[in-house]
Amino acid sequence: MTVLDGNLVAKQIKDEIRRAIAGYAVKPKLVVILVGENPASKVYVGMKDKACAEIGFASEKLVLPASASEAELLALIDRLNADDTVDGILCQLPLPKQIREHQVLERISPQKDVDCFHPMNVGYLATGNPFVKPCTPAGVIEIMKRYQINLSGAHAVVVGRSNIVGKPLAQLLLAEHATVTICHSRTKDLAAVCRSADILCAAIGKPEMVQGDWIKDGAVVIDVGVNRVDDATNPRGYKLVGDVDYAAAAKRASYLTPVPGGIGPMTIAMLMQNTLELHKRRCG
Ligand code: NDP
Repeated sequence: MTVLDGNLVAKQIKDEIRRAIAGYAVKPKLVVILVGENPASKVYVGMKDKACAEIGFASEKLVLPASASEAELLALIDRLNADDTVDGILCQLPLPKQIREHQVLERISPQKDVDCFHPMNVGYLATGNPFVKPCTPAGVIEIMKRYQINLSGAHAVVVGRSNIVGKPLAQLLLAEHATVTICHSRTKDLAAVCRSADILCAAIGKPEMVQGDWIKDGAVVIDVGVNRVDDATNPRGYKLVGDVDYAAAAKRASYLTPVPGGIGPMTIAMLMQNTLELHKRRCG
Protein backbone atom coordinates (compact mmCIF):
# COMPACT_ATOMS: atom_id res chain seq x y z
CA MET A 1 0.00 0.00 0.00
CA THR A 2 1.28 3.45 -0.91
CA VAL A 3 0.41 6.40 1.31
CA LEU A 4 -0.71 9.40 -0.76
CA ASP A 5 1.37 12.03 1.02
CA GLY A 6 -0.58 15.30 0.90
CA ASN A 7 2.05 17.21 2.85
CA LEU A 8 4.75 16.24 0.35
CA VAL A 9 2.71 16.99 -2.77
CA ALA A 10 1.33 20.24 -1.33
CA LYS A 11 4.90 21.37 -0.63
CA GLN A 12 5.90 20.57 -4.22
CA ILE A 13 2.97 22.61 -5.55
CA LYS A 14 3.71 25.54 -3.24
CA ASP A 15 7.38 25.45 -4.32
CA GLU A 16 6.28 25.52 -7.96
CA ILE A 17 4.06 28.55 -7.30
CA ARG A 18 6.85 30.33 -5.39
CA ARG A 19 9.16 29.86 -8.38
CA ALA A 20 6.43 30.97 -10.81
CA ILE A 21 5.87 34.31 -9.05
CA ALA A 22 9.53 35.05 -8.31
CA GLY A 23 9.73 37.66 -11.07
CA TYR A 24 6.35 39.25 -10.44
CA ALA A 25 6.46 42.95 -9.59
CA VAL A 26 2.97 42.69 -8.08
CA LYS A 27 2.30 39.57 -6.02
CA PRO A 28 -1.07 37.77 -6.07
CA LYS A 29 -3.28 38.79 -3.15
CA LEU A 30 -5.81 36.68 -1.23
CA VAL A 31 -8.24 38.13 1.30
CA VAL A 32 -9.80 35.74 3.81
CA ILE A 33 -12.86 36.86 5.78
CA LEU A 34 -13.68 35.23 9.11
CA VAL A 35 -16.96 36.00 10.85
CA GLY A 36 -17.12 34.98 14.51
CA GLU A 37 -15.07 32.71 16.71
CA ASN A 38 -15.59 29.16 15.37
CA PRO A 39 -12.38 27.42 16.59
CA ALA A 40 -12.00 25.13 13.55
CA SER A 41 -12.56 28.09 11.20
CA LYS A 42 -9.89 30.08 13.04
CA VAL A 43 -7.44 27.22 12.50
CA TYR A 44 -8.28 26.96 8.78
CA VAL A 45 -7.97 30.74 8.26
CA GLY A 46 -4.61 30.72 10.07
CA MET A 47 -3.37 27.91 7.80
CA LYS A 48 -4.42 29.81 4.67
CA ASP A 49 -2.70 32.98 5.88
CA LYS A 50 0.47 31.02 6.69
CA ALA A 51 0.52 29.38 3.24
CA CYS A 52 0.30 32.83 1.58
CA ALA A 53 3.23 34.05 3.67
CA GLU A 54 5.32 30.94 2.83
CA ILE A 55 4.75 31.37 -0.90
CA GLY A 56 5.18 35.13 -0.99
CA PHE A 57 1.60 36.10 -1.78
CA ALA A 58 0.10 39.23 -0.28
CA SER A 59 -2.69 38.30 2.09
CA GLU A 60 -5.11 39.93 4.44
CA LYS A 61 -7.25 38.41 7.16
CA LEU A 62 -10.40 40.38 7.95
CA VAL A 63 -12.29 39.41 11.11
CA LEU A 64 -15.88 40.45 11.81
CA PRO A 65 -17.59 39.80 15.14
CA ALA A 66 -20.08 36.91 15.44
CA SER A 67 -22.81 39.57 15.77
CA ALA A 68 -22.01 41.14 12.36
CA SER A 69 -25.02 41.69 10.14
CA GLU A 70 -25.42 40.35 6.62
CA ALA A 71 -25.42 43.93 5.32
CA GLU A 72 -22.05 44.61 6.96
CA LEU A 73 -20.51 41.51 5.42
CA LEU A 74 -21.96 42.28 1.98
CA ALA A 75 -20.63 45.85 2.18
CA LEU A 76 -17.16 44.48 2.98
CA ILE A 77 -17.36 42.11 0.00
CA ASP A 78 -18.45 44.98 -2.26
CA ARG A 79 -15.40 46.95 -1.15
CA LEU A 80 -13.07 43.99 -1.87
CA ASN A 81 -14.73 43.32 -5.25
CA ALA A 82 -13.91 46.91 -6.22
CA ASP A 83 -10.36 46.81 -4.82
CA ASP A 84 -7.95 46.43 -7.71
CA THR A 85 -5.20 45.01 -5.49
CA VAL A 86 -7.29 41.97 -4.50
CA ASP A 87 -7.22 38.81 -6.65
CA GLY A 88 -9.09 36.29 -4.52
CA ILE A 89 -11.79 36.62 -1.85
CA LEU A 90 -12.69 33.77 0.47
CA CYS A 91 -15.35 33.88 3.16
CA GLN A 92 -14.75 31.08 5.66
CA LEU A 93 -17.81 28.88 6.24
CA PRO A 94 -19.91 28.25 8.27
CA LEU A 95 -21.41 31.70 8.85
CA PRO A 96 -23.40 32.83 11.91
CA LYS A 97 -27.10 32.07 11.53
CA GLN A 98 -28.21 35.68 10.88
CA ILE A 99 -26.20 35.69 7.63
CA ARG A 100 -27.52 33.83 4.58
CA GLU A 101 -24.71 31.82 3.03
CA HIS A 102 -26.05 31.97 -0.53
CA GLN A 103 -26.28 35.80 -0.40
CA VAL A 104 -22.62 35.97 0.54
CA LEU A 105 -21.36 33.41 -1.98
CA GLU A 106 -23.31 35.12 -4.76
CA ARG A 107 -21.96 38.56 -3.80
CA ILE A 108 -18.28 37.64 -4.25
CA SER A 109 -17.34 38.58 -7.81
CA PRO A 110 -17.05 35.41 -9.96
CA GLN A 111 -13.67 36.77 -11.11
CA LYS A 112 -12.43 36.78 -7.48
CA ASP A 113 -14.24 33.61 -6.35
CA VAL A 114 -11.18 31.62 -5.31
CA ASP A 115 -13.29 28.78 -3.82
CA CYS A 116 -15.48 28.31 -6.95
CA PHE A 117 -18.70 28.63 -4.93
CA HIS A 118 -20.44 31.35 -7.01
CA PRO A 119 -23.36 29.84 -8.98
CA MET A 120 -21.84 31.13 -12.22
CA ASN A 121 -18.57 29.31 -11.55
CA VAL A 122 -20.46 26.21 -10.37
CA GLY A 123 -22.24 26.36 -13.75
CA TYR A 124 -18.96 26.60 -15.64
CA LEU A 125 -17.72 23.58 -13.69
CA ALA A 126 -20.90 21.61 -14.45
CA THR A 127 -20.59 22.35 -18.18
CA GLY A 128 -17.00 21.13 -18.18
CA ASN A 129 -15.28 24.50 -18.60
CA PRO A 130 -14.29 25.58 -15.08
CA PHE A 131 -13.03 29.11 -14.45
CA VAL A 132 -11.22 27.79 -11.37
CA LYS A 133 -11.78 24.42 -9.70
CA PRO A 134 -13.07 24.08 -6.14
CA CYS A 135 -10.11 23.56 -3.83
CA THR A 136 -10.85 20.30 -1.98
CA PRO A 137 -12.11 18.34 -5.02
CA ALA A 138 -9.25 19.75 -7.11
CA GLY A 139 -6.83 18.57 -4.41
CA VAL A 140 -8.26 15.05 -4.64
CA ILE A 141 -7.73 14.90 -8.41
CA GLU A 142 -4.28 16.53 -8.23
CA ILE A 143 -2.86 14.11 -5.65
CA MET A 144 -3.99 11.12 -7.73
CA LYS A 145 -2.43 12.64 -10.86
CA ARG A 146 0.87 13.29 -9.08
CA TYR A 147 0.98 9.57 -8.12
CA GLN A 148 0.10 8.68 -11.74
CA ILE A 149 -3.14 6.95 -10.82
CA ASN A 150 -5.18 6.33 -13.96
CA LEU A 151 -8.72 7.65 -13.64
CA SER A 152 -9.97 7.02 -17.17
CA GLY A 153 -12.56 4.24 -17.18
CA ALA A 154 -12.17 3.59 -13.44
CA HIS A 155 -15.30 3.22 -11.32
CA ALA A 156 -15.16 6.10 -8.82
CA VAL A 157 -17.60 6.07 -5.90
CA VAL A 158 -18.06 9.36 -4.05
CA VAL A 159 -19.77 9.11 -0.67
CA GLY A 160 -21.25 12.55 0.07
CA ARG A 161 -23.16 15.00 -2.13
CA SER A 162 -22.42 18.38 -0.58
CA ASN A 163 -21.92 21.45 -2.76
CA ILE A 164 -18.43 21.88 -1.30
CA VAL A 165 -17.02 18.39 -1.80
CA GLY A 166 -19.20 15.53 -3.08
CA LYS A 167 -20.95 17.11 -6.07
CA PRO A 168 -17.99 19.04 -7.52
CA LEU A 169 -15.68 16.06 -6.92
CA ALA A 170 -18.04 13.86 -8.95
CA GLN A 171 -17.89 16.43 -11.76
CA LEU A 172 -14.09 16.59 -11.76
CA LEU A 173 -13.88 12.77 -11.77
CA LEU A 174 -16.27 12.70 -14.75
CA ALA A 175 -14.06 15.22 -16.52
CA GLU A 176 -11.19 12.75 -16.00
CA HIS A 177 -13.33 10.08 -17.71
CA ALA A 178 -14.08 8.04 -14.59
CA THR A 179 -17.44 6.28 -14.31
CA VAL A 180 -18.94 7.98 -11.28
CA THR A 181 -21.43 6.86 -8.64
CA ILE A 182 -22.56 9.38 -5.99
CA CYS A 183 -23.80 8.03 -2.63
CA HIS A 184 -25.52 9.76 0.28
CA SER A 185 -27.49 9.07 3.44
CA ARG A 186 -30.35 7.42 1.54
CA THR A 187 -28.16 5.10 -0.55
CA LYS A 188 -29.16 1.44 -0.16
CA ASP A 189 -26.44 -1.04 0.79
CA LEU A 190 -23.68 1.57 0.88
CA ALA A 191 -21.07 -1.08 1.75
CA ALA A 192 -21.80 -3.03 -1.46
CA VAL A 193 -21.61 0.12 -3.62
CA CYS A 194 -18.31 1.06 -2.00
CA ARG A 195 -16.97 -2.46 -2.63
CA SER A 196 -17.55 -1.93 -6.36
CA ALA A 197 -15.22 1.11 -6.41
CA ASP A 198 -11.81 1.23 -8.04
CA ILE A 199 -11.53 4.69 -6.51
CA LEU A 200 -13.42 5.31 -3.28
CA CYS A 201 -13.76 8.90 -2.05
CA ALA A 202 -15.27 9.45 1.39
CA ALA A 203 -16.63 12.95 2.16
CA ILE A 204 -19.17 12.16 4.84
CA GLY A 205 -18.15 13.80 8.11
CA LYS A 206 -18.59 10.59 10.16
CA PRO A 207 -15.48 9.37 11.99
CA GLU A 208 -14.10 6.08 10.57
CA MET A 209 -17.42 5.09 9.05
CA VAL A 210 -15.94 3.34 6.01
CA GLN A 211 -14.89 -0.14 7.14
CA GLY A 212 -12.11 -2.34 5.77
CA ASP A 213 -14.55 -4.81 4.22
CA TRP A 214 -16.22 -1.98 2.25
CA ILE A 215 -13.03 -1.70 0.21
CA LYS A 216 -12.18 -3.76 -2.86
CA ASP A 217 -8.68 -5.26 -2.82
CA GLY A 218 -6.34 -2.83 -4.60
CA ALA A 219 -8.76 0.13 -4.58
CA VAL A 220 -7.55 3.71 -4.29
CA VAL A 221 -9.05 5.24 -1.14
CA ILE A 222 -9.31 9.01 -0.70
CA ASP A 223 -10.41 10.14 2.75
CA VAL A 224 -11.65 13.75 2.67
CA GLY A 225 -13.18 13.61 6.16
CA VAL A 226 -11.78 15.64 9.03
CA ASN A 227 -13.43 14.75 12.34
CA ARG A 228 -12.47 15.77 15.87
CA VAL A 229 -12.80 12.88 18.33
CA ASP A 230 -12.07 12.99 22.06
CA ASP A 231 -8.60 11.80 22.99
CA ALA A 232 -7.51 12.12 26.62
CA THR A 233 -3.91 11.19 25.69
CA ASN A 234 -3.64 14.23 23.40
CA PRO A 235 -2.71 17.58 25.04
CA ARG A 236 -5.47 19.25 23.00
CA GLY A 237 -8.01 16.74 24.33
CA TYR A 238 -8.94 15.57 20.84
CA LYS A 239 -7.43 14.05 17.73
CA LEU A 240 -8.36 14.26 14.05
CA VAL A 241 -9.59 11.18 12.22
CA GLY A 242 -11.01 10.71 8.74
CA ASP A 243 -14.19 9.08 7.47
CA VAL A 244 -12.30 5.84 6.78
CA ASP A 245 -11.00 3.27 9.27
CA TYR A 246 -7.38 3.86 8.25
CA ALA A 247 -5.78 0.73 9.76
CA ALA A 248 -8.38 -1.57 8.20
CA ALA A 249 -8.26 0.25 4.85
CA ALA A 250 -4.47 0.00 4.75
CA LYS A 251 -4.79 -3.82 4.54
CA ARG A 252 -6.89 -3.63 1.34
CA ALA A 253 -6.14 -0.41 -0.52
CA SER A 254 -3.39 0.09 -3.11
CA TYR A 255 -3.22 3.83 -2.32
CA LEU A 256 -4.62 5.63 0.71
CA THR A 257 -4.66 9.22 2.01
CA PRO A 258 -3.93 9.74 5.72
CA VAL A 259 -5.83 12.12 8.03
CA PRO A 260 -4.25 14.48 8.84
CA GLY A 261 -1.68 14.94 6.06
CA GLY A 262 -3.75 13.93 3.03
CA ILE A 263 -6.43 16.07 1.42
CA GLY A 264 -6.21 18.88 4.01
CA PRO A 265 -2.82 20.25 2.84
CA MET A 266 -3.83 19.62 -0.79
CA THR A 267 -6.85 21.88 -0.31
CA ILE A 268 -4.61 24.74 0.84
CA ALA A 269 -2.20 24.16 -2.06
CA MET A 270 -5.11 24.32 -4.53
CA LEU A 271 -6.30 27.55 -2.90
CA MET A 272 -2.86 29.03 -3.58
CA GLN A 273 -2.98 27.74 -7.16
CA ASN A 274 -6.41 29.33 -7.68
CA THR A 275 -5.19 32.64 -6.26
CA LEU A 276 -2.35 32.63 -8.79
CA GLU A 277 -4.75 31.69 -11.60
CA LEU A 278 -7.15 34.54 -10.73
CA HIS A 279 -4.22 36.97 -10.55
CA LYS A 280 -2.99 35.90 -13.99
CA ARG A 281 -6.46 36.25 -15.51
CA ARG A 282 -7.02 39.67 -13.97
CA CYS A 283 -3.60 41.05 -14.83
CA GLY A 284 -3.36 39.37 -18.24
P1 NDP B 1 -21.68 17.72 4.61
O1 NDP B 1 -22.18 17.43 5.98
O2 NDP B 1 -22.13 18.96 3.91
O3 NDP B 1 -22.09 16.48 3.67
C1 NDP B 1 -21.94 15.16 4.12
C2 NDP B 1 -22.47 14.21 3.08
O4 NDP B 1 -22.33 12.89 3.58
C3 NDP B 1 -23.95 14.43 2.74
O5 NDP B 1 -24.17 14.38 1.35
C4 NDP B 1 -24.65 13.28 3.47
O6 NDP B 1 -25.78 12.77 2.81
C5 NDP B 1 -23.57 12.22 3.46
N1 NDP B 1 -23.78 11.31 4.57
C6 NDP B 1 -23.94 11.62 5.88
N2 NDP B 1 -24.16 10.52 6.61
C7 NDP B 1 -24.15 9.49 5.74
C8 NDP B 1 -24.33 8.10 5.88
N3 NDP B 1 -24.56 7.53 7.07
N4 NDP B 1 -24.26 7.34 4.78
C9 NDP B 1 -24.02 7.89 3.56
N5 NDP B 1 -23.83 9.20 3.37
C10 NDP B 1 -23.90 9.99 4.44
O7 NDP B 1 -20.12 17.64 4.69
P2 NDP B 1 -18.97 18.21 3.71
O8 NDP B 1 -19.14 17.66 2.35
O9 NDP B 1 -18.83 19.66 3.87
O10 NDP B 1 -17.68 17.54 4.38
C11 NDP B 1 -17.51 16.15 4.45
C12 NDP B 1 -16.27 15.84 5.27
O11 NDP B 1 -15.13 16.39 4.61
C13 NDP B 1 -16.26 16.46 6.68
O12 NDP B 1 -15.59 15.57 7.54
C14 NDP B 1 -15.46 17.72 6.50
O13 NDP B 1 -14.83 18.13 7.70
C15 NDP B 1 -14.44 17.27 5.49
N6 NDP B 1 -13.88 18.36 4.71
C16 NDP B 1 -12.53 18.37 4.57
C17 NDP B 1 -11.92 19.35 3.84
C18 NDP B 1 -10.44 19.32 3.70
O14 NDP B 1 -9.85 20.32 3.36
N7 NDP B 1 -9.79 18.19 3.94
C19 NDP B 1 -12.68 20.44 3.21
C20 NDP B 1 -14.11 20.28 3.32
C21 NDP B 1 -14.66 19.28 4.07
P3 NDP B 1 -27.15 13.62 2.62
O15 NDP B 1 -26.87 14.61 1.55
O16 NDP B 1 -28.15 12.59 2.22
O17 NDP B 1 -27.41 14.26 3.95
